[in-house]
Amino acid sequence: MSLVLTVDGERWRSHLRGFAERHPGLVPVAKGNGYGFGLGRLARKAAWLGVDTLSVGTYDELGEVANRFDGSLLVLTPWRPFGAALDLAPGSPLTRRVIHTVSRVEDLEALLARDPDARFVLERTTSMLRHGLSARDLRAAGALLAARGGLREQLRGVALHLPLAQGSHLGEVRRLMTDVVAADLATTTVWVSHLSEAEQGELAAAYPDYTFRPRTGTGLWLGDRSALRVTSTVLDVHPVERGEVFGYRGRSAPKPGTILVVSGGTAHGIGLEAPSGDLSLRSRAATLARGGLDAVGFVRSPFSIDGKQRLFAEPPHMQASMLFLPAGATVPAVGDLLDVRVRYTTTSFDDVVIS
Ligand SMILES: *Cc1c(COP(=O)(O)O)cnc(C)c1O
Repeated sequence: MSLVLTVDGERWRSHLRGFAERHPGLVPVAKGNGYGFGLGRLARKAAWLGVDTLSVGTYDELGEVANRFDGSLLVLTPWRPFGAALDLAPGSPLTRRVIHTVSRVEDLEALLARDPDARFVLERTTSMLRHGLSARDLRAAGALLAARGGLREQLRGVALHLPLAQGSHLGEVRRLMTDVVAADLATTTVWVSHLSEAEQGELAAAYPDYTFRPRTGTGLWLGDRSALRVTSTVLDVHPVERGEVFGYRGRSAPKPGTILVVSGGTAHGIGLEAPSGDLSLRSRAATLARGGLDAVGFVRSPFSIDGKQRLFAEPPHMQASMLFLPAGATVPAVGDLLDVRVRYTTTSFDDVVIS
């Protein structure tokens, strides 16, 4: 009675391998709900790919990946002198595998005071304006490190988190690289997010002394949708007459049809999408005139039957949803599977089956 992600294993693995081959130095990102697959599964896949480093989003996520992947663990959320980062005991086996992201000069000092052997990358702010050092701060960090002998073994590189591409990133990266070069750091590695394959190639050619390492989640794990199928199961089928009452809200059927109860509800992340239709009064009146069900407040669901996304009969329940199927449509049987369109990063599947 579940919402299930079924993965065509051969196709998925061949995509993962091809992606890794096309992106030298790849650092897979496993964070949040593990892009629908779960963090542990992604950690094992990163080990299978043979990469040397896996990224997690937060310190809280380290525990879920650390015993499934034994390389370095880059934490994308910057280190701060508070919170879960302080749960890592200096010198512990796990701590020694972690690469921190440092985005403020005072944090660099505080991190090294707490753990003189800490490994880290210095994040430079980008047009994202999320976290990072300004050009001047990066030089200050460079000076601070130079005064300690450069810390070549511990400084693992500079990190650049770029916005999702609206055109090319190359101009911005070139400007940022000028700051990186000026900071005179004891590293030539640049960890980048959201660069295309072509951009990475051009940068590698433009800065032959530097190594660019792409940190990628979506394009890697979800890059071949044809390997993925999400299904719900039909749990119940109730033919209804016009005016018949159903649901938590005692709503009545606007016309004859079928109420379907299917697996998948709010607990899975179903139903959080806004209705896509035009909700203006005029268009509602037009739909009403055509007898359209969206005009009576039915919202499109992510569940499809006959290749068409069907309407919710009422808002999704915790683990199941009620759909309204107008008379004339093919009525599935209890136990049939329905395809579901989901956003993988916000969906909790009951099961992930990889063939
Ligand atoms: C989440 C994240 C990524 C990976 O993003 P995708 O769009 O899933 O590839 C890369 N870098 C940083 C800093 C991130 O937070």
